[in-house]
Amino acid sequence: MESDKFEEYGGEMLRYVTSYLDNIRSRRAFPDVEPGFMRGLIPDKAPDDPDSWQDLVKDIERVIMPGVTHWQSPKFFAYFPTSSSYASMLGDMLCNAIGCIGFTWASCPSCTELEVLMMDWLGKMLQLPDAFLFSGPGHGGGVIQGTASEATLMCLLSARTLFYKREREKRAELTMGQLVDSLVAYCSDQAHSSVERAGLIGAVNMRKLETDAKGSLRGDTLKKAILEDKAKGLIPFFLCATSGTTTSCAFDNLKELGPVCEEHGVWMHIDAAYAGSAFICPEFRPLLDGVEHAMSFNFNPHKWLKAMFDCSTLWVQNTDHLRYAFDVDPLYLKHENQGVMPDFRHWQIPLGRRFRSLKLWFVLRLMGVKNLQQSIRKDVRLAHEFETMVKSDPRFEISADVIMGLVCFRLKGPNEISERLLRDVNTGGQIHLVPSKMKDNYFLRLAICAPDTNSDDVKYAWDVIKKAADVIMKSPIA
Ligand SMILES: *Cc1c(COP(=O)(O)O)cnc(C)c1O
Repeated sequence: MESDKFEEYGGEMLRYVTSYLDNIRSRRAFPDVEPGFMRGLIPDKAPDDPDSWQDLVKDIERVIMPGVTHWQSPKFFAYFPTSSSYASMLGDMLCNAIGCIGFTWASCPSCTELEVLMMDWLGKMLQLPDAFLFSGPGHGGGVIQGTASEATLMCLLSARTLFYKREREKRAELTMGQLVDSLVAYCSDQAHSSVERAGLIGAVNMRKLETDAKGSLRGDTLKKAILEDKAKGLIPFFLCATSGTTTSCAFDNLKELGPVCEEHGVWMHIDAAYAGSAFICPEFRPLLDGVEHAMSFNFNPHKWLKAMFDCSTLWVQNTDHLRYAFDVDPLYLKHENQGVMPDFRHWQIPLGRRFRSLKLWFVLRLMGVKNLQQSIRKDVRLAHEFETMVKSDPRFEISADVIMGLVCFRLKGPNEISERLLRDVNTGGQIHLVPSKMKDNYFLRLAICAPDTNSDDVKYAWDVIKKAADVIMKSPIA
């Protein structure tokens, strides 16, 4: 394709994209297709000669759209939001055009330099302690990872290596295998599945600790577990605390957990994948108090800060712990300026990396902090509007405190009727929700997701839910 064709087709694609997003409310949020639906719709092998652009465009509606779950629809309330914004799309477009792989500073200096500066911009927006910033007094800094899962894994593995180096000083004959057998990591029983998975990949024991009635992990619980494990001769080394759980948006008590971790030399990592974005608003920032005790902190601008997937920002107080955890240095990756600026290949699992800071730069400059704060506040306000509607209907109850843009609710009574409610709502396809469970209490989660969701959309969702409840209440479980 030559550049003149790219301009022509690109113009058409832009118009398709804006029309798709402008009219997204007219589509059902959740598709009505069966597994394997696509097989009959396209040929069973790639074309030998090129297809025409026009034929390809036609197939977007014929082949793709019938099976799309419309995450950017204001009628989509499932999981957590995944940010979308034109600013971010434009940044990504430039990223694609530059098409670099920024594994070392020399492989594309701007890719590394902008990332360093954006991590400081964003860190300051969240009022992270200076110790986490490149411009701070210590060894702090941040890096963009693909996902929160990778950030947790990277920190767990770095902590594992740190402990190995420390223990080897006491016992020179110690092997990593022997050490790993005695390491123990912690998270709460509400932590994201990716935390358990990080434990499995890192081959360390991950103990899930019980949370209080609000789903929050408390300092005393951690302390008790650490003392028990130390008495067994185990080595507590890592805690993944959660700020804003996926289940119910509960917050672990960082101010209690932090000092316990420090006393016992445990690396505290904070997973704030969803809620982290809200810390740019001063009124929510107190929920992050205690972060100064953490070795690492991560959240996903790709969830709630208008930067599109993938953009998961990770800060550490001592970048050497990431930098030197898995250090290999083949000749073809060496360059003259090593050590002056970061070579981010050492800070992540893969070697290759996209120029992801561009989309952050575009978003932060084209929207400004104030607009971003307003959009967070709008979503929280909508969640409270929905909470009020649920509370006005005596058949329903709220299952967890509404703190951010997530409302957990259920029909009073046995789990089965709420399970049926969810099934009926999702089968209807007009809105989309997912469920969760805390201590055997099943509930539905309504998360404010799309950038354009407004009060009418929330009312619409409530109407759909109420009508489904009417049917269920008339004919209780068959
Ligand atoms: C969404 C979420 C994750 C997973 O995020 P990825 O970026 O997809 O890995 C982890 N932790 C919490 C608390 C989440 O809400």
